[in-house]
Amino acid sequence: MLVGSTGLAESMSRYLIRRIENSPTIVFRPQTEIVTLEGGDHLNSVHWRNGQTGQTEQHKISHVFVMTGADPNTRCLDGCVALDAKGFIKTGPDHSPENLSAAGWPLSRQPYLLETSLPGVFAAGDVRGGSIKRIAYAVGKGSIAISFVHIKYSRNRKQMILHLRLRYSTTIRL
Ligand SMILES: Cc1cc2nc3c(=O)[nH]c(=O)nc-3n(C[C@H](O)[C@H](O)[C@H](O)COP(=O)(O)OP(=O)(O)OC[C@H]3O[C@@H](n4cnc5c(N)ncnc54)[C@H](O)[C@@H]3O)c2cc1C
Repeated sequence: MLVGSTGLAESMSRYLIRRIENSPTIVFRPQTEIVTLEGGDHLNSVHWRNGQTGQTEQHKISHVFVMTGADPNTRCLDGCVALDAKGFIKTGPDHSPENLSAAGWPLSRQPYLLETSLPGVFAAGDVRGGSIKRIAYAVGKGSIAISFVHIKYSRNRKQMILHLRLRYSTTIRL
């Protein structure tokens, strides 16, 4: 396992790190990057370089799994909903007043939790700016977003808002 940074602690849960450390079949190489892949019809060998020592090694390896980080597929939303500098969707309190006015927010109320700069459009999961990239988090926030969709389209909005205020301890204005 090659990792470009000095360790895994910043981006991985401790229990997973421990499993990697305890596995006899995983050799962990921090500060190491793949520099060359060689092969014809299939991969034959991989060259990697240690960023600290500058030393390069070649190994006969036929499979590589690459995980280079999250790159949100939101280009199609640019100009439609406000995105942050990395292309993730801004929601709820992430919007500054300037940001909302630039995005043409037409309402007197602030966006609901998880609401984008387009009223009635909500975002949850990895694509949302500042989200924790975990399944449980995406599912949980998705279910909260649905509650706000109900508010948006409910005939009895006041009652729904009261219910959500109590449930999520959040400020929701009409
Ligand atoms: C290798 C790896 C291992 C992981 N391991 C764990 C783990 O052990 N535990 C954990 O909790 N989390 C793990 N995660 C994170 C977890 O997978 C994500 O947090 C979770 O899947 C986010 O769910 P999501 O619905 O927001 O996004 P996704 O699951 O990414 O779903 C987004 C969907 O939208 C589709 N899509 C993208 N662009 C468009 C478009 N323009 N139009 C239409 N559809 C589009 C995609 O094809 C995809 O199907 C892991 C992630 C990776 C990459």
